[in-house]
Amino acid sequence: MKNILSYTPDELKELMVSLGEPSYRAGQIFTQLHKCISLDEMTNVGKVTKQKLHNALDCSLPNVKRKLTSKLDGTVKYLFELSDGNCIESVVMKYEHGYTICVSSQVGCRMGCKFCASTVAGRVRDLESGEILGQLIAAQKDLGIRISNIVMMGIGEPLDNYDNVVKFLRLVNLPEGVNVGYRHISLSTCGVVPKIYELAKLDLPITLSVSLHASDDSTRSEIMPVNKAWGVDELLDACREYYRSTQRRISFEYTLIAGKNDTKQNALHLANTLNAKLRTRSETMPIHVNLIPVNEVTESGFRSSDKSAVKAFAATLESHGIRATVRRTLGSDINASCGQLRREDAEGDAKGCEEMRKETF
Ligand code: SAH
Repeated sequence: MKNILSYTPDELKELMVSLGEPSYRAGQIFTQLHKCISLDEMTNVGKVTKQKLHNALDCSLPNVKRKLTSKLDGTVKYLFELSDGNCIESVVMKYEHGYTICVSSQVGCRMGCKFCASTVAGRVRDLESGEILGQLIAAQKDLGIRISNIVMMGIGEPLDNYDNVVKFLRLVNLPEGVNVGYRHISLSTCGVVPKIYELAKLDLPITLSVSLHASDDSTRSEIMPVNKAWGVDELLDACREYYRSTQRRISFEYTLIAGKNDTKQNALHLANTLNAKLRTRSETMPIHVNLIPVNEVTESGFRSSDKSAVKAFAATLESHGIRATVRRTLGSDINASCGQLRREDAEGDAKGCEEMRKETF
């Protein structure tokens, strides 16, 4: 059954009419659902209408199966159970400017990045737009807060579930609903190039985050199988096109893995590649590199670079005109990065912690 949160106001109107209900009720129901009031809690909707909707749709929110709260910084990690029993993760972080949620876009992932816990058992299914939105609404309801920023950096590859993700972006932006501005949304991709071009055409002013992790094709293909389909050159061409369409700065994520991609030579290659492709004399794209010491996922065997290597890597980028920041750990005491809580739940084996807050080097 389709989730009620996947419906736009117009789609909900159509549905209400098909159920023999007045269409004006759709707007009331839509707004209440998006303001964290469940169908059963609504006082201005009759029992019969509620029953009809329950019969036609899944009207539930993701259910909190586990919740870990950091004593250090208040970061909250949720393991949510969906109506079919599948589990996904979301993380809520508090910053000076408000709350940010990191949402999942798929149950599992099929992209196969070697360092990532979310992809170890492959993809089970895509999330509906309403299941992505449901994570935010369930977290707001549970915590009694308003979330103002969204990062699509949880489990899954958002551009591998393109239609549902775009619908989610549009739904969450609606003023009569949750109303999060596009500029407060980041979408992270491992580099599904054709979909970056499609997204560029939509001209939504969201921030695109590209998980680069290596700038030479042989290293990148080794740690990110997606690179065999679309190499670094093609990916950076798509980034340039994205910038030309949207005028939005692009963030590059670079996970530092000891002995794999963290040497001075690697930093130089990255700086030279980005400068040659994106920062030419005729066009200087605003870009930013986020350096992330890799979380040591049990299955990968990869080790994190030490602090001095991370510092040196950032300094090399900066000395070549590339802005770089190193992510600081949030929620280090609750020890469960995206993908790892779900695996722990399935197998009783998890380790590590996602690093989300950025700090200028
Ligand atoms: N599929 C998307 C979004 C989900 S992953 C993407 O690839 O961008 C969010 C970010 O976390 C990506 O940059 C990803 O490469 C990174 N990541 C995954 N596993 C990690 C790990 N073990 N340590 C550090 N970063 C990791």
